[in-house]
Amino acid sequence: MRVPKQITILGSTGSIGRAALEVVAASPGAFEVVALSALSNSTLLAEQAARFGVQRVAIGDEARSADFPPGVVVLRGAGALDDLAGDPDLDLVLNALVGSSGLKPALAAVRTGNRVAVANKESLVMAGELLIPMASVTGSELIPVDSEHSAIFRCLKGTRRDEVDGVTLTASGGPLRGMSSEASATASLDDVLNHPTWNMGRKVTVDSASMFNKGLEVMEAHWLFDLPYDRIAVVVHPQSIVHSLVRLVDGSLLAHLGEPDMKVPIQYAMFYPDPPPVAFGRCDLGAIGGLSFEPLDEACYPCYGLIVEAGRIGGTAPAIAATADEVAVGAFTDERIRFGQIASVIEATLDGVRFAPADNMDHILAAEDEARVYALGVVAQLAD
Ligand code: MG
Repeated sequence: MRVPKQITILGSTGSIGRAALEVVAASPGAFEVVALSALSNSTLLAEQAARFGVQRVAIGDEARSADFPPGVVVLRGAGALDDLAGDPDLDLVLNALVGSSGLKPALAAVRTGNRVAVANKESLVMAGELLIPMASVTGSELIPVDSEHSAIFRCLKGTRRDEVDGVTLTASGGPLRGMSSEASATASLDDVLNHPTWNMGRKVTVDSASMFNKGLEVMEAHWLFDLPYDRIAVVVHPQSIVHSLVRLVDGSLLAHLGEPDMKVPIQYAMFYPDPPPVAFGRCDLGAIGGLSFEPLDEACYPCYGLIVEAGRIGGTAPAIAATADEVAVGAFTDERIRFGQIASVIEATLDGVRFAPADNMDHILAAEDEARVYALGVVAQLAD
């Protein structure tokens, strides 16, 4: 493996991207940051480019300008992210883009055979049927960044495949845990954004409160670990110390424990296959005192059931559900619809848009476009 590793970070101004650059800063000499991208925060992007000596940056919002350091190539336009992700001279692409914007760059990286640290769930959720078979042809390795999948990935190392019965994802329960479904339906934006254990971006925090995020993670586990849905379980664990578990055929469990800090799984993916060297906090069970677990009450989280069902259906159904959720969460954070109406938007969009096979990117993107228009229509009706 080359030292320093040549790494490109897509979505470097978001919470995962910023944490990844903290990992780079904490390990001098380990990484050379080749390229960065941001949607609109050009000021922070220019600061990052200067600090890490980056050669190329891409900015999504073409109107934005900033003072980039001399010699930095600034890319704009639709294909810029694909060019960065598909650079054949990289050791790793960290895909920390938000939502469906991560799809085409993921495809470009996998097609080139690049190793991808996957923080963009949607690329697997919406395009797993396309990306996973392609990765096995090109030799592209997909390394999870999500804390749950990183935990499972680590537990599976050194475990024989025929010893694995299934996996159990832990869920903190989010900011609305313990609230009745009636009360959570009208929860305020502040309540929903107040996550008890994880400090994350807005979209994923809302998706954690609705458990839509956990449903996406079930689908991600299905693709990353080649497991059928009936071998993927979820358990609520409010302390977020046990990051997930692998169940063995003898009924016992392997778990990965740690402080809830995204730099841990990010660092793991960045150094893989080498061991991550930096301790971002040490897990002290004596100080934590107690760990608790409870079953997931699916009746309280309709978004969870909707997205998992879309996963079982397959084809473009997950893309339709994920797009409807993106629209609905946007409408909720703009305070146009209530929290409980996010599920209504997803359900109506799954009912209203026809499913197709997800065997090429055009089908997936067409389904996304159709679902977006449909979901916006549902939001407009609900918001009246
Ligand atoms: Mg997660």
